[in-house]
Amino acid sequence: MNIRLDQIPVRQIKGVSARKEEELHAFGIRTAADLLEYFPFRYEDYRVRELEEVGDGEKATIQGKIAAPPVVQRYGGKTRMSCRVAAGRMLITAVWFNRHFLKDQLTPGRDITLTGKWDRHRRQLTVAESEFPDRGASKTGTLQPVYSVGGGITQSWMRKTIAQALQQFGHLVPEVLPHELIQRHGLMPRREAVMRIHAPGSAEEGQAARRRMAYEELFLFQLKLQAYRAHTRRKRDGIAHTADNAAIREFAAGLPFELTDGQKKAVNEILHDMRQPYCMNRLLQGDVGSGKTVIAAIALYAAVKSGHQGALMAPTEILAEQHLRTLEKLFKPHGIQVALLTGSLTERQRRDVLAGLQMGMIDVVVGTHALIQEDVHFRSLSLVVTDEQHRFGVGQRSILRRKGIHPDVLTMTATPIPRTLAITAFGDMDVSTLRERPKGRVPIKTYWVRHDMLDRVLGFIRREVAAGRQAYIICPLIEESDKLDVQNVIDLHQQMQQAFPDLKVGLLHGRLTAAEKDAVMREFASGEAHVLVATTVVEVGVDVPNATLMVVMDADRFGLSQLHQLRGRVGRGSHASYCVLIADPKSETGLERMRIMTETDDGFEVSRRDLELRGPGDFFGTKQSGLPDFKVADLSSDYALLETARDDAAEFVSREAFWHDPACARLREMLMRDPVFQGEQLD
Ligand code: ADP
Ligand code: MG
Repeated sequence: MNIRLDQIPVRQIKGVSARKEEELHAFGIRTAADLLEYFPFRYEDYRVRELEEVGDGEKATIQGKIAAPPVVQRYGGKTRMSCRVAAGRMLITAVWFNRHFLKDQLTPGRDITLTGKWDRHRRQLTVAESEFPDRGASKTGTLQPVYSVGGGITQSWMRKTIAQALQQFGHLVPEVLPHELIQRHGLMPRREAVMRIHAPGSAEEGQAARRRMAYEELFLFQLKLQAYRAHTRRKRDGIAHTADNAAIREFAAGLPFELTDGQKKAVNEILHDMRQPYCMNRLLQGDVGSGKTVIAAIALYAAVKSGHQGALMAPTEILAEQHLRTLEKLFKPHGIQVALLTGSLTERQRRDVLAGLQMGMIDVVVGTHALIQEDVHFRSLSLVVTDEQHRFGVGQRSILRRKGIHPDVLTMTATPIPRTLAITAFGDMDVSTLRERPKGRVPIKTYWVRHDMLDRVLGFIRREVAAGRQAYIICPLIEESDKLDVQNVIDLHQQMQQAFPDLKVGLLHGRLTAAEKDAVMREFASGEAHVLVATTVVEVGVDVPNATLMVVMDADRFGLSQLHQLRGRVGRGSHASYCVLIADPKSETGLERMRIMTETDDGFEVSRRDLELRGPGDFFGTKQSGLPDFKVADLSSDYALLETARDDAAEFVSREAFWHDPACARLREMLMRDPVFQGEQLD
């Protein structure tokens, strides 16, 4: 029977008392395996350097010889000890604070290694640590690991204890990756990597050890997602849609425009999934204005023609109502019944819709989160489409899924997710991507101006309106206060109505009732209102192709993806469109956002640079994003490694042998221990 590291309590490591054991628990360290996998987040460099090469103010380790006896000065309760040291061809002053007890050891002629901060002008080194080579120096020449510590655990105790653990149990570190992959990528064996990551002989060695552990982490993560997907596919408990191709083709032919190649490809991918007996779980990502709604319509049509029902969830009522109008127009000629279900229906309307859904009189329902309340029942829900998925909680989606037997799920997002994050966060999803926008679109020109240009911007609005177009003016965000925002947008509206006394200026904000919002939107969509002053309620999805000008006040207060979404409200027809950002940015990030917006109107690029600016953790906002906390891997720098790991995982899972090959036994065992494989839902 093999001894397993993850069954050895830390207490068995020499130097770990009952008290220390408890303190380690606070760090999640319970076993020898936990401790050995508690990796440093950086290293301190004690490699000896030539003084000539050390820059002013840099910290470095140098070697020298004591040149004269030290001098100790006292002030207050403190001491300052200085000593002349010959280092290479230089004579320098080494200074220690509050370490005068070293005085007797600093005998002229003795070799010494000093680590500290170099002041080139004064030729002075402020010593942090010193060692005597004749004592058998320990740190000199090494890279010392720096761990995250705290409480009763000090850095030096952690170093010592991990070194001890390596000595006692290092030989038990198991390999988990298949030999084949280690060979293919020239990875360090796991035992060596664990040793080296704590005690690298060189920077390159530390790098190689880190790379090996990062790959392992990413591979296991991808393997889990992909094995889970393969596992659920084997279950085949989804609905196999049966709508015939001819009917769907006829529906597509009746659309007011021809689908782009990208749209056709996405439709085919979706229809292919829908025909399979397993549950579709597909992400459709495409920049704003790339035409996702019509793809949803085709999928919903296929669900209805297969004898089932479909649901389309939108993040706001305005958007739900807009989708309702779009679908009604497309579906009416085909006798398909569409209904709206939002929080602002009257009790009676709501009852009617619920009855219609349960009896199957309603084929497609469009709504907000009101769709997912427990009292909503369907006769046969087979497809759920969510628009702008990042606004829905993970829990909400799964409630809705539970209402059908096992409906197919299509998730649409206009916040294009950089590839890395897509394959990380959505590794269990298939991804369709719309890269191109429909033909005939003119790129949106984006300008950034300061507040003192407001009059010119107003002139610009006037000219666009005179040419028959329409404009949005977005009110700045104020704190997180809805109330202040409302007051602000009302003031701005008044100001704009005064500036354009002969035009109709609409006003839209979150505090209006659904009916009021609807009326305002209809007025703007029909062209009756020329200008719409709004808060970010129009941020996502709103589609008024005749609007060609988007003006954002205090634009630096908005995040990049928000700005890009707002800009996406224009450029939806064949007219040239403009986005004007008014801002006097006070921060460097604010400034950078303005630069990025004026440099590109490609959502993928905006999103990539947003990621750079914010880092991956912040990108999705919350923990519920499903992004795992990697110990070693860093999503913003390990792009290539992640892609490799994903491809490798896909290859392994697709092999029949993976499920019984002894070489993969350890991997399978690790997978099966995961809650996901013990029946817990992944989302
Ligand atoms: P988004 O992907 O942002 O949700 P929409 O689905 O709202 O985009 O589509 C944007 C606009 O483009 C709509 O007015 C829609 O009718 C139109 N559209 C969609 N596909 C095409 C196409 N293939 N050719 C021309 N116009 C299209
Ligand atoms: Mg949309």
